[in-house]
Amino acid sequence: MVADKGKESHQHDVLKSTQTVIHLALDKLGYPEEVFELLKEPVRMLTVKIPVRMDDGKVKVFTGYRAQHNDAVGPTKGGIRFHPNVTEKEVKALSIWMSLKCGIVDLPYGGGKGGIICDPRDMSFRELERLSRGYVRAISQIVGPAKDIPAPDVFTNSQIMAWMMDEYSRIDEYNSPGFITGKPLVLGGSHGRETATAKGVTICIREAAKKKGIDLKGARVVVQGFGNAGSFLAKFMHDAGAKIIGISDAYGGLHDENGLDIDYLLDRRDSFGTVTKLFNDTISNEELLELDCDILVPAAIENQITEENAHNIRAGIVVEAANGPTTLEATKILTERGILLVPDVLASSGGVTVSYFEWVQNNQGYYWTEEEVEEKLEKILVNSFQNVYNTAQTRRVDMRLAAYMVGVRKMAEACRFRGWI
Ligand code: GLU
Repeated sequence: MVADKGKESHQHDVLKSTQTVIHLALDKLGYPEEVFELLKEPVRMLTVKIPVRMDDGKVKVFTGYRAQHNDAVGPTKGGIRFHPNVTEKEVKALSIWMSLKCGIVDLPYGGGKGGIICDPRDMSFRELERLSRGYVRAISQIVGPAKDIPAPDVFTNSQIMAWMMDEYSRIDEYNSPGFITGKPLVLGGSHGRETATAKGVTICIREAAKKKGIDLKGARVVVQGFGNAGSFLAKFMHDAGAKIIGISDAYGGLHDENGLDIDYLLDRRDSFGTVTKLFNDTISNEELLELDCDILVPAAIENQITEENAHNIRAGIVVEAANGPTTLEATKILTERGILLVPDVLASSGGVTVSYFEWVQNNQGYYWTEEEVEEKLEKILVNSFQNVYNTAQTRRVDMRLAAYMVGVRKMAEACRFRGWI
């Protein structure tokens, strides 16, 4: 009971704090209150019950959600999360963040997000397949290549996208690769999608380092989280000549001032990004965040840098690869301390950018090379970083508010042109 209560109030904060910044951004841009009324919650939210036959023969009923924040710009877009801590409020906040990301990198989409309360670490391959297919059947009426396009998120991957695409294609009665992104290459996936989030973060780190006069060669980097974003990021930074002095997973962290052997750790991690269980000499996630370093990348879950530890952060740059890792109070403290914070809605937008490329390729039936994808991603991310950075400078606001101002503008304009507000 107590744990549930804590979970709910923590999630409440995530939605509330994103609403606070949306409100501030709309105020700064001069929009009236009714725009905030429309944008503060998703326009559509579906809750579903998914009965799944488990391997032991019993039926377990799972709860899932799909939130569609705003579809004024175009179809909604965003991942599906499989996690025991998923809540309705968290999915709502995540859908708002997707709208902002799409606005910042200027994609023809609004934001959406899905989630299922489950722990895939305790489920078999076939149970996961049945759950994935059941979820698609439950939400099939409100999704589709021109309505709402899902993708991977925490603890979901290309295999799960493949089952979901197959299930949707059966319901739709023809092959629909454009229904979902993050698919395996042979089923219409895009080159570069798997590494896209980390690539985007890497570009943001490079641009932020230039602003701060930090040389990436030899820079000391700490990465919290070793999932899709964190592990590829550690690899890219390592290859760029940086020293990864700390990494962590859900169970603890590893620290080595001389730099960790990233290739070895990548080799030993499991599909959920767990690797520290193999070591005895670990530190806590709290200790990891406070390590003395040049660049800190929270790449795990929400609410990791708070007013409690923001004063102890010893990085020059904080780049948010996770969704919502820093609270608003902590954002203020870090900014006042002169730490350059690159917010989630900008830093983690590489994933949805290459998802968009995947969808475009599916719609055209014409596929691009890895080089083409990377070149296009690079251009978009560099421009977006510059746009947010310039907004922060000229409007004298912190990087998070600047990103929200950039992210919300097109959506508000689209609502106005459609005559909604
Ligand atoms: N789940 C990812 C995110 O939070 C990617 C979404 C997508 O590719 O549509 O940005």
